[in-house]
Amino acid sequence: MNTKILKENNEKIVINLTNTNFETANSIRRSCINNVPTMAIEDVHILANNSALYDEILAHRLGMIPLTTDLKTYNKLEDCKCKSAGCARCTAEFVLEAKGPATVYSKDLVPTDPSIKPVFDEMPVVKLFENQEVRLTAKACLNNGTYHTKHSPCNAYYQFYPNIKVLKSKKALDDICPRKVFKNGAVDKDNLLNCNLCNACTDAFPDSVTVEPEENNILLTIESWGQLAPKTIYNTAITNLISDLDEFKKLLK
Ligand SMILES: [Zn+2]
Repeated sequence: MNTKILKENNEKIVINLTNTNFETANSIRRSCINNVPTMAIEDVHILANNSALYDEILAHRLGMIPLTTDLKTYNKLEDCKCKSAGCARCTAEFVLEAKGPATVYSKDLVPTDPSIKPVFDEMPVVKLFENQEVRLTAKACLNNGTYHTKHSPCNAYYQFYPNIKVLKSKKALDDICPRKVFKNGAVDKDNLLNCNLCNACTDAFPDSVTVEPEENNILLTIESWGQLAPKTIYNTAITNLISDLDEFKKLLK
């Protein structure tokens, strides 16, 4: 398999996988979603809460807040030397103290380790009225999306590379394509990757254009939720997929 990065920014990466098949691409996609660990709040100790939200709802909301993740420093709880007791190498702690009237946001979670903090500052957690307060401590740990989807780092999907041939140039192609792949009746190379193989063009003008998916040429898109950079997600997913396959091989023997 060959890989080439076509687009990359802090939120999203598009990778062209060639000389491969969709089974491999799908394994990588699933590994990205389920097999790349991130930090998320797992335990909440509520000291005071007379807000409108039950303790359980409050704890659930805190669990869903994406946290910046440092894969080099932190271990998964089950792999840690402390034998899952919780230590500075596997657990990050937060304190939240707020009094009404106020809206409590994700940024009000004060971390003990500044490298593990909410990705987004302005996620509302709970609204407090006069005389209402929330005081709690929370522990975050590293785990996979298979354990709970709050640990999943991204959305990932793939499609076949579109091979578009314009047989007869038609200006009307520009408007018929909902993804704006055509310009002046020809394929606009800058927008080619917008094509999602919907065939709106071939349905309207079967004699003018053909669209074929290239089956060994795949576009994999990874959209990060913010805990990890998209490239880190891809690289970790590949490393973990290979180690899982090695383990599977050993078990077969
Ligand atoms: Zn530990």
